[in-house]
Amino acid sequence: MSATIIDGKAIADRIQAEIAEDAARFQAQYGYPPGLGAVLAGDNPASAQYVRMKRRACEKVGFHSVAHVMTASSTQDEVEAAVSALNADPHIHGILVQLPLPPQINEERVLRAVSLDKDVDGFHPINIGMLGMKGREALFTPATPTGCMVLLKEAGVNLEGANAVVIGRSNIVGLPVALMLMKANATVTVCHSRTRDLPAIVRQADVVIAAIGRPEYVKADWLKPGATVIDVGTNRVDDPSDERGYKFVGDVEFEPALGIAGAITKVPGGVGPMTITMLLHNTLKAARRIAAAG
Ligand code: NAP
Repeated sequence: MSATIIDGKAIADRIQAEIAEDAARFQAQYGYPPGLGAVLAGDNPASAQYVRMKRRACEKVGFHSVAHVMTASSTQDEVEAAVSALNADPHIHGILVQLPLPPQINEERVLRAVSLDKDVDGFHPINIGMLGMKGREALFTPATPTGCMVLLKEAGVNLEGANAVVIGRSNIVGLPVALMLMKANATVTVCHSRTRDLPAIVRQADVVIAAIGRPEYVKADWLKPGATVIDVGTNRVDDPSDERGYKFVGDVEFEPALGIAGAITKVPGGVGPMTITMLLHNTLKAARRIAAAG
């Protein structure tokens, strides 16, 4: 039996169409569109590409967007000043600080400087704290983990009491998705580079979230038959058969996994499109909250 492919691109397109309609209603009601502001410091080509993609996505759904692009030698004060300018801008409702920041910049201080009302990436320590605490709700949850949760919901996965294994514990993916799965009443195991016998742990999993950053590291025969697999990994590998000379693969051995998993996301076309979509969703939510508060 072949696994169901969880089509992140199709799900993201549908949600973005709904966001575009909501944005048009917002604009009609308030006379201005929801706005997203980005801070990009440094010369990391992937970060610049992500910021361009986010700007294009904003245009597509009718959001206003601005980007503060700064050099790799920017100072702490300059980066924090860019955040403050966006905090004060009434046409900006969501702020995105593109990570990683250059090494001389204290990331925590920058993320703390983002107004809680505009923290659409959900990386402010207060939002992450709320996400982790029982009985509390974060105002905004990080985009990639939220995208994973939406994909699980769309795939009809019942998380109540399910064994969920998260591979990776980064601040932007592994940790927050583990917290979200726990809130959804899954029994969560978080694995990382020091984990002993990863295959044995993955074999217990009803749900696997792979967020490692190593091409096809998770082998198909580690998977429990019928498991749901969300592959966050986006790894560029050489591919002479592709006209660009490379392609992207996930952290999970995809083709063989099709014969074992119950459902699985593709790379590309799985989690990636959901990340931008969840950022747009959070920005619209922020715009509504700010507008309603007058
Ligand atoms: P990261 O900060 O490098 O974290 C990687 C995590 O994987 C770490 O916790 C690390 O463990 C763990 N790890 C590394 N090697 C391992 C191994 N052999 N066995 C078990 N765990 C291992 O990466 P990230 O930012 O979370 O990103 C992970 C992947 O997701 C990357 O491919 C990235 O490109 C992709 N990504 C995709 C999206 C999207 O929108 N699709 C968004 C964000 C990230 P330690 O903590 O012990 O070092």
